[in-house]
Order: sequence, then C-alpha cells, then structure tokens
Amino acid sequence: MTPRHTRGRAVIDLRSDTVTRPDAEMRAAMAAAEVADDILDGDPTTRALEERGAEMLAVEAALWVPSGSMGNAIALAVHLRPGDRFVAPRLSHVVEYELGAVSWLTGALPRELPWSVRPGCIEAAVISRTVSSDRPYDALRDRLLCLENTHNAAGGTVTSPQEHREVVTAAREAGMLVHLDGARLWNAAVAAKTSLPKLTSGVDSVQVCLSKGLGAPMGSLVCGSADFVRQARRVRKMLGGAVRQSGVVAAAGLVALGRVDRLEEDHRKASLLAAGVRDLGWEVPEPETNIVMAKVPDADGLVRNLDRIGVGVTVLAGKVRMVTHCDLSEGDVRDALVRIKRLATFGEEA
Ligand SMILES: *Cc1c(COP(=O)(O)O)cnc(C)c1O
Repeated sequence: MTPRHTRGRAVIDLRSDTVTRPDAEMRAAMAAAEVADDILDGDPTTRALEERGAEMLAVEAALWVPSGSMGNAIALAVHLRPGDRFVAPRLSHVVEYELGAVSWLTGALPRELPWSVRPGCIEAAVISRTVSSDRPYDALRDRLLCLENTHNAAGGTVTSPQEHREVVTAAREAGMLVHLDGARLWNAAVAAKTSLPKLTSGVDSVQVCLSKGLGAPMGSLVCGSADFVRQARRVRKMLGGAVRQSGVVAAAGLVALGRVDRLEEDHRKASLLAAGVRDLGWEVPEPETNIVMAKVPDADGLVRNLDRIGVGVTVLAGKVRMVTHCDLSEGDVRDALVRIKRLATFGEEA
C-alpha cells in the first residue's frame, strides 16, 4: 500500500483516478442532501441524480448503483442467460477485472475479440465475420456485445462516435444486444470533442462511473430503457445493492456530473507526464485521455522503486499505468517527473 507520505514528502498518487476524495463543495452537498429510504419511499436526491444522468446520456432511465462492477453485472444479468456468450474487446474490464461475476450470475461465457483497428477498439467487419446469434441449437449463442469506452487496459483509448456507430450497427445486424461499459465515457466525450449521446446511441444499456475522474466518493449509474431499469432495480436488490438513504452519496454524484468539462485538464496533465517519461526513454504512446501506459523492461521492479520515492503507480496488462486526476495539480505532475528523473539518474538513493 502506498503511504500518504514518504521521507517527509507527500506521495504523488498516480495509481488511479479512483483515489480522488470529495472536496468541500461535494461534502457540503452531501451534508445538506434531502434524503429518504430509497427502498421504501424513494430517495429524492437519488431520483434527481438518476434523472440528470439519464438526460445527459440521452437514455430513458438510470439507476444508481454502489459500484461500476455492480452496474456491469446487473446489466448483463438482465440481458444474458445460460447458453449465451458475450463478446468484448480483449482485456475488457468485465472479462478480466470483475472475477467472472457475469458468468457466475448468468451462466453466460465470455469471448474476447482482438483490437484489430487500434488499441482497445474492435472492428465492425470482425463482428460481422465472426459473430452470429443464428447458430446451431447446440452451440453457444453470441447474445451480447460489451463495449468499453474509454478502454482501460488499452490505456484509456477512445472509440469515436463513428467507430461506435459502425460497431453497434454490426452487432445489431448479427442479432446481438449491446452493453457499454462507460466507466470513463466522460473522458471519451471530452477527448473526442463530442456529445455523450453520440457515444451511447444504439446501446441497450450503459454503465458510467461517478467515482473516477468526476471525483465522487462512490457510485455509478446503470442506464437504458424504462423497462430495462425496472428489471435492473430488481437485480440490484437481489445483489444487496439497494441502499436506504442513498441521497447522501447521490448528492456527491450530482456535483460530479457538473464536472465533466474539467476532465480536459486531466488529459493535458497526462500528455505532460507522457512527454516527460518519454524523455527518459520509456516507451509511451501519446495518451488519448487521462491514462499513461509505459512499456518498461521490469514493470514490477520499477513500481517498487517509484513507491520508495513517493510516486504511486500500478502495473496493468504488463505495463506501468499512471492516471492523472483532479487531486493532482500540474505542479504535482512536474514534481513526479523530477522525482522519476532523479531515480533514473541516481538509482534508489534518489
Ligand atoms: C473502474 C472500472 C469499472 C468498475 O469500477 P468499480 O471499481 O467497480 O466502481 C468498470 N469498467 C471499467 C473500464 C473501469 O475502469
């Protein structure tokens, strides 16, 4: 675990945008939230958050859930049953980082598709060529496509509105439903300079996180048609995800929804960070959003050394991952680069 201070210096925590803590404005909104028992009567602040989220994403309805993983699991539990298969780009969160919860809950099996266009993106032609819901009665049925925008393990890569449209159309033509894991969909919209509805169009359900770059302490929205949300609400209760005075955290979510535009700053900081470590010879593609992925010879060893000098990073998909966020200023990013350069020059005594 990364300590908050090391040798008297504050730790610069680039492990994830989930480390962001609610600021004074958010805490004030939480303290002042009007609340009620959401299971018995409905919680007014949670309702307001769900309505605002649905409006921003241009979907009929939204449901607050405690985490993104639960949001994905609920959506896929509504859509899938035993004998089904769901397809997703390689290294998708729902396949690799949710412990197989979808298969546990539904009996459906995953199938990963290659990143044939560029990192994190699958190609419409690959779907048309390889996927079909019209298979022999004794074969697994490809029932659903699960997209991820931005794609986390690929390095926060963006699927553009046009690519989104093409892939969704191909999935529909193959007889599949579409779920979008939009944990960082906000970042995708800001980076692609497009509107959120262009990135949700045609999907049957979408999950978005309030707890990452937007800075809420917890919570996601899982969204779709009114009928989808009716079913999702029942599954949420089955999983123990229906909570009582959820308005306390929903209030933070409402503040978070007003902070989409400032993600641009995180993207700029990621670009600055990437340029700095590239100067040291690290192999780093230009970040599209707030995630920097570096290919280095010994990722685990480097993470340990960085930890000693107060720079928190993680290893993901064999690479060093660094994530910029609102709790770090541009000055903090420059400070991290100074520390990393000292480590490169003087070794572990930096
Ligand atoms: C973070 C994340 C989730 C879910 O996150 P929780 O930690 O369960 O809230 C889902 N998908 C992607 C791509 C993510 O990055």
